[in-house]
Amino acid sequence: MKRTFPLLLLFALLGGCKPPVARVSPPTPDMRAPAPPDALAPVIAPPVEATVSVLELGPPGSERPAYKRPPVIDFHAHLSLDGQERIQRIMRENGIELMVNLSGGSFRHGPEQWLQAKILADALGGRVVNFMNPDWTGYGDPTWAKREADRLDEAVNRYEFRGLKIAKILGLGAIDEATGQLVKVDDARLNPLWQKCSELGIPVTIHVADPRAFWWPLNPHNERWDELKVHPGWAYGQVPPELAVQLPVRPKPPSWAELLEAAERMYRANPRTVFVAVHFGNAAEDLDYVDGLLSRNDNVYIDLAARVGEFGRHPAAKLLAFFTKWQDRIVFGTDIGIGSDFLMLGSNGAVEPQLPEVRPFYEAHYRFLETGQKQIAHPSPIQGNWKVDAIDLPAGILQKIYRDNALHLLDRQRLKTFAARQLPETKPRPIGVPDENQPKPPQ
Ligand SMILES: [Zn+2]
Repeated sequence: MKRTFPLLLLFALLGGCKPPVARVSPPTPDMRAPAPPDALAPVIAPPVEATVSVLELGPPGSERPAYKRPPVIDFHAHLSLDGQERIQRIMRENGIELMVNLSGGSFRHGPEQWLQAKILADALGGRVVNFMNPDWTGYGDPTWAKREADRLDEAVNRYEFRGLKIAKILGLGAIDEATGQLVKVDDARLNPLWQKCSELGIPVTIHVADPRAFWWPLNPHNERWDELKVHPGWAYGQVPPELAVQLPVRPKPPSWAELLEAAERMYRANPRTVFVAVHFGNAAEDLDYVDGLLSRNDNVYIDLAARVGEFGRHPAAKLLAFFTKWQDRIVFGTDIGIGSDFLMLGSNGAVEPQLPEVRPFYEAHYRFLETGQKQIAHPSPIQGNWKVDAIDLPAGILQKIYRDNALHLLDRQRLKTFAARQLPETKPRPIGVPDENQPKPPQ
């Protein structure tokens, strides 16, 4: 049975993680000429001097006046292609050297979006790099993964894209048109696409599931009520009738744990591909689970985007120990969205933020990572009405999280070398026999 996936639901599922499509003028024909293969060129121009090199925050005595922050890479941004001026300004004012645009676009309407994304990156002197988004239409056709792998090859080799971004629509919205069912995160038919990433030496950033409270009944007792009442389409639990009427009909979503288990099966089945599990491994609520995820899978990194408020609820000492242990596998990211008339700061409420709110947003991240201040505001207060204790990371760890780890992920030769490493031998396990290495699902 063929089935068309409702467009409205697609938008609802992408909400909060994707700015509106940019309005751009058509390219001149000669701009379509193939770019020379430049696969292993350095990612960025020489580092800029950070404009926010000294933290000017907090009560006297609590800041780190001697600390010089390196130029920061924001590994999780959504950039509208018409937003060049604001992007430049925001980068300059917040000490951002490079932004990774996870909304580089799909091939759904041809290469136009990729071309515009490349024009933006070029106009900013390479201080933006783009990641491709797959086009889920036609999923169920046996050629789907090959089609998207070929497109990815073109995005990388012709338009200088540097990665693949998978939105939470995988597992929660993308439909197998052959069966009408949701595509599973660990669907083996996706493997050719993951394998193409390892061949190309690029990472996959992947958003699976959402905050755990999104599965709880939606009412004023839900800790994410302020946010979900504005975006009821993000709620997967029981939604009150007055909000439910706004929602399109959709398939029953898998549970939080089912999604995370499927994601880990997928990481394990593709050990040569490097994954950046966004939003703190997609499980910021469960530090022990994320610790296990990283322990069991040397091909998984995490980013911090839009989850300081969530992981910041863990005891600061425990979180500091986590960051210390995993200092080589964590990248800084914020989930900022920027367009000429659009802003998102991790998450938005009913009223869109304004430009003057951007600097406090970045400073809230910096304050959390660089100071030991207690009970401070987290960067996106709409995500929860509570305070967090900062973790005062040593300068060496900050250097890795702000910059070095991101550069490793964007170093194609390094990822190819990783892909070629010797893997431990794994014996197939008889069906039904428990595997002690099997991930323990978070509760
Ligand atoms: Zn995002």
